[in-house]
This record gives sequence, structure tokens and C-alpha cells, in this order.
Amino acid sequence: MILTRRILLNAIGTSLLAGPVLAQAANTAPADFKGKVFVTERGGVRVHTYMADPAGALVTSHLVETQAGLVLVDGQFVAASAQELKRYIALLGRPVTRVILSHMHPDHWFGLAHAGFEQVHAGPVTAKFITERGAALVAERKVETRVPAIAGTIAAGDETIGGVVFRYRPILDTEAPEILTIELPQAGILIAQDVVYNKVHAVVSRQLDQWVAALKAIETRAGEMPVILPGHGEPTAPASLAGLVGYLQAVKPLLVANIGKEDQAKAITEEIARAFPDYRIPPLLTLGLSRALKA
Ligand SMILES: [Zn+2]
Repeated sequence: MILTRRILLNAIGTSLLAGPVLAQAANTAPADFKGKVFVTERGGVRVHTYMADPAGALVTSHLVETQAGLVLVDGQFVAASAQELKRYIALLGRPVTRVILSHMHPDHWFGLAHAGFEQVHAGPVTAKFITERGAALVAERKVETRVPAIAGTIAAGDETIGGVVFRYRPILDTEAPEILTIELPQAGILIAQDVVYNKVHAVVSRQLDQWVAALKAIETRAGEMPVILPGHGEPTAPASLAGLVGYLQAVKPLLVANIGKEDQAKAITEEIARAFPDYRIPPLLTLGLSRALKA
């Protein structure tokens, strides 16, 4: 374990010496991890991104270092990934003093209990869903986990935690009813979570127009937020968003033409997967379509 910690710290140190870590930075996870870790350091703010392996849907969890401890954004899906996240946090050797849940989808919170967390802060829509329907979702999916308690509700605006400004911007009716995006203005980092997928098939909803509009709004602010941390996939940059816009625009006519035909989810997925061969995990698109196609 000590050796692992030293290797990890060396890896981080090397990245720092090389200057700001750019999008698509090197994986600095311990050698036995299935998931990956990317460290982004800008403007005196350091963010560690744990990304699960494909079995964990390439879901990301971000750890923002502050003078008041670590702020964790999202808690993983499967137990194995959550346990790696927990191990990584132990390697950092600092307490997590706040856990923020970006949105209601279980791939971002079923792992929380396995990572050792029992409570979260979230936007109001997400908080209401977790409180009212979280237990039913756990029972329905037959997973071994616990529903986190809501420790606080987050509204739009700025909060300074341990010297780091967190700018909360909830985005409504895109991939989920509410996704809390978090900007770190000192660092020019946007924690976009599921508003952005990086070369990963998306759990699409019917709100594709609003979703595209949200992506274009992010694109226009590329100068302020040159680094984007997606909810699925590696850190990226605003220049890559055009690719995701094209993907959603390719899905839209197929979705619209097949409303009421849930059995077409697989066929549409296959068509989109052929058109976007570098996108990973097609079952995520099938999952989204099977819901969005319901009449
Ligand atoms: Zn997700």
C-alpha cells in the first residue's frame, strides 16, 4: 500500500512539473485499478477524476481539493468501482467533507454506500427524487445499497468551500430532469456530469433540443471554461462538444419517428453505433431509448 501511495504521488508530481494537465491527461490510477484517474490542476485548484471501467459505465466521480477537505461529486454505480474510489480517497489521505450528487440517475449514486458515504447535497429536484423514490428504485433494481440522506439542498449561485469557489448552475430537462453543473471559475473547470458524455453512448431522453441548447451554451463560454469534466468518459474540452451535438442530432429523428415503439430501441442503437463507431457502451443508448420511446 505504501508503495502504491508513493507511485501515485510521483505520478501526480510529474504531472504538476509538466505544467497544467490538459484534457485527455494521463491515467494516474494505481496499477491494479480497473478504473482510471485523471488529475487536472489549474489556477491553484486540483481536481482528481476517478473514471470507472466499462463495467461501471465509465461513470466519473470528481474530488476537488480545498483547504477544508475534499469535495466529492457523484458516487459511482457498481460496488467494485465505488470500492476503488474509496481506496483512491484513502490514498489522498484527506477527509471528504462534502458529497454533491449531480442528478437522480442511479449510476451516479448506487455506489455511494460502498464508497462509505451516507449523505449528499443536491439540487432540489434531485433531492426530492432521492427522498421520495430512492428506496423504491433500489428495491426495483434489486441492488445491495442504501439511499443517501439529503444533508442539504443546493441552489444556483456561488459557494466558497475552503478557498475554492463552486459556481452551481442547475440545467433542467436535458439528460435528466435536473443536472447540477459546477463551475470552478478560478480553475476554468466545468464539472458538467451528464450534460456531457465523452465518446460514450448517451442515456438519451426526449429533451434532445434542450440538451443541444445547453451544450451550445457551454460552447459559447469555452474561453472561461476550457476544461470540461463529463459524467461519462475522460476529461475533455469545449471543442469536442460539436461531436456530441452531432450525435444527439442523429438520434433525434430516429427517436421522433419511433415514439410508442420501444422494441425499436435495439435497432436504433445499432444504427447509431455504426455511425459513431468510436462511442463506447451502446447499451446506455438502448436504455435511454427504451424509456424515451414509450408513448
Ligand atoms: Zn450517468
